[in-house]
Amino acid sequence: MRSGRTLTAMSTGDTSDTAGPDTAGFEARARALADLGVVGVTIGWPDNNGVLRSRTVPVEALPDAATRGIGVTTLFAVFDTRDGIVFGPPGLETPAGDVRLVPAAGPEGVVPLAGRPGLAWSPGRVVTADGGPWPYDQRGVLERQVAAAGEAGLSVLAGYEIEFALYRDDDHEPPVPAVTGPAYGPDVLIGLDGFVTRLLADLRDNGVPVGQLHAEYGPAQLELSIAAADPLTAADRQLLARQTIHAAALAHGYRASFAPLPSTGSAGNGWHLHTSVARDGVNLLSGGDGPAGSTADGAAWLAGLLRDIDAVAAVTAPGVPSVLRRRPGHFAAAYGFWGIENREAALRMVPATGLLGAGHANVELKASDAAANPYLALAVVIGAGLAGIADRPELPDPIQEDPGTWTAEQRAARGVTALPTTPAAQAEALRANPRISAVLGEHVGAAFRAVRASDAAFADGRSVEDVLAAFRYRY
Ligand code: GLU
Ligand code: MG
Repeated sequence: MRSGRTLTAMSTGDTSDTAGPDTAGFEARARALADLGVVGVTIGWPDNNGVLRSRTVPVEALPDAATRGIGVTTLFAVFDTRDGIVFGPPGLETPAGDVRLVPAAGPEGVVPLAGRPGLAWSPGRVVTADGGPWPYDQRGVLERQVAAAGEAGLSVLAGYEIEFALYRDDDHEPPVPAVTGPAYGPDVLIGLDGFVTRLLADLRDNGVPVGQLHAEYGPAQLELSIAAADPLTAADRQLLARQTIHAAALAHGYRASFAPLPSTGSAGNGWHLHTSVARDGVNLLSGGDGPAGSTADGAAWLAGLLRDIDAVAAVTAPGVPSVLRRRPGHFAAAYGFWGIENREAALRMVPATGLLGAGHANVELKASDAAANPYLALAVVIGAGLAGIADRPELPDPIQEDPGTWTAEQRAARGVTALPTTPAAQAEALRANPRISAVLGEHVGAAFRAVRASDAAFADGRSVEDVLAAFRYRY
């Protein structure tokens, strides 16, 4: 069932954006795309709410877009989740200002969209009018952390699991699940045969390598995992996966909700983020005599993530629905602790096994969802992990139970606290953590805080049902 519209899939770790645009490469890519019948290229980038924004240019204009960029307002830095504009951070006080959107992953990052004949897709980034780094560009925040890891002789691999719910494409409230059936049941997928077949084919043709797909726990909830890659590629692929899922869902009369909690009757949608760290290609989370077989550096990476977990979660699961998702007993990171293969833990250590090999060991961050900008999310994870390797905070023993079933005294005795449960507590966790704030930097940090406050003000005083409905299809 190959569509015949496949070009070389997205390259990994493309750095052409730092070396200047490859104009000849984009010209060749535009010709190849046109030969496949592509007429337009959509360049998409995620804002500070995890909401995708975009521009589409005729395919012939791709080289020009890559070389000179497409003019967009500076105010995208301060769009809130519902498209409100929050004036105020430095340089964003007024409607005046223009920056340029460019394709961010080189010519090979522009892929024909298998499910949407006529269109191609590229992840984007925003640069200044002169083509220089723009201080509000989130991709640059991640590039800084990837570079810092490289300077420490380390490399990071990252992979996302994407959970989503499929609803009937109407305005029914609460939303009507596309199918019913037992959790993880193949029957659920039979009811979605057309969608699932198309989705797997489209993801393959779009160059998104899928580990597996399954019916998840919640009503009409599905999950797919994307193979691990370098952090920039992992974030780029996460965006392309979103587009691909949305298109396949709409083509079959469904709407996909990526919201961290689509409605009070839904399961939460975690976008769990798996990372591992290596030196000279050797995974530091295995082969040692530390906890769960990690090396001393691997344990320090995990300890760094645990030390900063409240502030990390304020960036990796930052939305109003994100805090509502964190219900104890739902495998949704209600408490800030780590455990070995413990699915209730905010940080689940997945150790190497004889079957899977040393390279497989990773840390799963459960406090991660679609409300995060994936570049910022990966940046703060790497920043916290690197700081752990530098500072070596103590790693407590793993917890192999659900602390939600303990008394408050038992939790206090083990030093286990709940992750922030309100937008105000999330904001305070970030404010109180200079390390994670420094990863974001002054400008992105200011814009990020501004849009979080705007979302919180919207939710304040509204019913949970109304809030969840307002955020359901934004991601
Ligand atoms: N749906 C759960 C969440 O909100 C996760 C279930 C799982 O462990 O896969 O994160
Ligand atoms: Mg899952």
